[in-house]
Amino acid sequence: MADVVLVPCANYDPAHVRPALEALLARVGGLDWIRPGMRIGIKANLVAAMSPDSAATTHPALISALVELLQARGAVAVVGDSPGGLYNAAFLNRVYAASGMDTTGGVLNRDFSTRDTALPEAVVCKHATVTGWLLDCDAIINFCKLKSHGMMGLSAAAKNLFGSIPGTMKPEYHFRYPDPMDFARMLVDLDEFWKPQLHLVDAVVAMEGNGPTAGTPKQIGCLLAGENPHRIDLLCAKLIGLDPGTVPTLRAAWERGLCPEQLSELEIDGPWERFVSRDFVTITQRNGLQFQNLLGGGVRGALFSRFLSRSLAARPSVEKTACVGCRKCERICPAKAITMRRGKPVVERKTCIRCFCCQEFCPKGAMQVRRPPLAKLLER
Ligand code: SF4
Ligand code: SF4
Repeated sequence: MADVVLVPCANYDPAHVRPALEALLARVGGLDWIRPGMRIGIKANLVAAMSPDSAATTHPALISALVELLQARGAVAVVGDSPGGLYNAAFLNRVYAASGMDTTGGVLNRDFSTRDTALPEAVVCKHATVTGWLLDCDAIINFCKLKSHGMMGLSAAAKNLFGSIPGTMKPEYHFRYPDPMDFARMLVDLDEFWKPQLHLVDAVVAMEGNGPTAGTPKQIGCLLAGENPHRIDLLCAKLIGLDPGTVPTLRAAWERGLCPEQLSELEIDGPWERFVSRDFVTITQRNGLQFQNLLGGGVRGALFSRFLSRSLAARPSVEKTACVGCRKCERICPAKAITMRRGKPVVERKTCIRCFCCQEFCPKGAMQVRRPPLAKLLER
């Protein structure tokens, strides 16, 4: 079986979606592993209470088609996620309704228990508090959305499992892993712990620009699948014109030998070249990551690396004309780096850990990711 399978899917019309999904699943080994009565957790991307047209969440037409296929095999298909914010029925009911999940025919997760769990094989995150519903599933299908992402550059298969951390606890994880590479290592720990049976990517309409919530829908026109989230993400990076070396989760996967560095080393089943977007607007995190290999070792090398990381790292920046002064960013900031002055947020640079929670959860897209002039200069 190929590392990654890609099939065209022009839009979310059920007449397109169902045959495309069936073709995709057939080429990725099929669903014969499913037994009647199995409880299959569909881990969608439900980042916020946003409509399917916003391209922020996995599209309900795809979830619906998958639910039908699972139910036809006698499985119980449970759909869920834990976005940032409260992890309770009232909050998730709003998300389910806005994202169209309540139309998919799946069982919407309403088990909001959390459990402390050991991750014995983990590299940085040996213990985690996770959502109980996923632990109670017999198997997991990770159905993510292809998006640009403020902190990680790319939101696709590997990033989606952060939704197994209860929303109320996510700020704590940002605080525990303020360095993007450590955060990425934690995400890879989660991927390795959950080991979904299958990863599927909704790249019919992706999100470009100020993702993962305030970007712009961008037609790509395909679905992807595979068993290894990092190999899928390597192809996703290529599709949106993102340098894989700037994606922390890919680098963390490379450290563990989970994924090749070159696309040419992947076995891809499908006409992927047709779906490379030449003008996709990405958020490139050109920080110290890219220069680490050029630096010598020792204390001076480490200090220079730190200096470069700080100087080149992207930062949150408020677009004052779009800001309505709702204070959501101030409330959500895990580092308490935001204060309101004259009704607008001000970010304290030294305190900011660059988690981009403020950017992700700003309801007006007013908090944006800005790269310092030096980073832009070096890129040129
Ligand atoms: S969340 Fe967005 S709109 Fe609200 S205060 Fe912050 S920047 Fe302004
Ligand atoms: S200001 Fe934004 S990016 Fe900085 S720590 Fe707070 S939420 Fe994270």
